[in-house]
Amino acid sequence: MPTIIGHCFFGMSLASLKPVGLDVSKAIGLSILCSCIPDIDGIGFFAGIPYHSIWGHRGITHSILFAMLWSYLLSQYFLKDESRELKVQWFFHFFWCTISHSLLDSMTDGGLGVGFFLPFIDERYFIANFIPVSPMSIGFFSSIPGILFLLEELTILGLISIPILFMGWLKQNFLNI
Ligand SMILES: [Zn+2]
Repeated sequence: MPTIIGHCFFGMSLASLKPVGLDVSKAIGLSILCSCIPDIDGIGFFAGIPYHSIWGHRGITHSILFAMLWSYLLSQYFLKDESRELKVQWFFHFFWCTISHSLLDSMTDGGLGVGFFLPFIDERYFIANFIPVSPMSIGFFSSIPGILFLLEELTILGLISIPILFMGWLKQNFLNI
């Protein structure tokens, strides 16, 4: 995976594409939460669940099904007093933020691939390998190589974020949606 810092950073850039209907701080917070939530399976990793298990890292919580269910629950809870149309818009926003995590993981150069189609198809997928995979050791990031690693990752994610931020700027200034 990219680091949790990288996923948060990318979630913040996706927040620029948020629909209307939630205040800015809540919208940004939820976008970041969605972009990080699939790594909740890290609990299982440290509890000894095998990596290749459906409950292991990059398993069910990185699947399209999980992203859909999670996004549905969030849109129903946080937009409960809003129109159906707005709920649908936010569902898709939450979905893209959540599945962006799995897409980024599947562009790393290490570990197992991502179980996009779990629990229906038990295969792990990579779609590219240009993002360095994050070491699982927290201590690594207090070293010089760890800081350089973070800088490299944020540079790559920053480059990917440029077109997203540009679309967000266009949306807010010209499309009025
Ligand atoms: Zn992940």
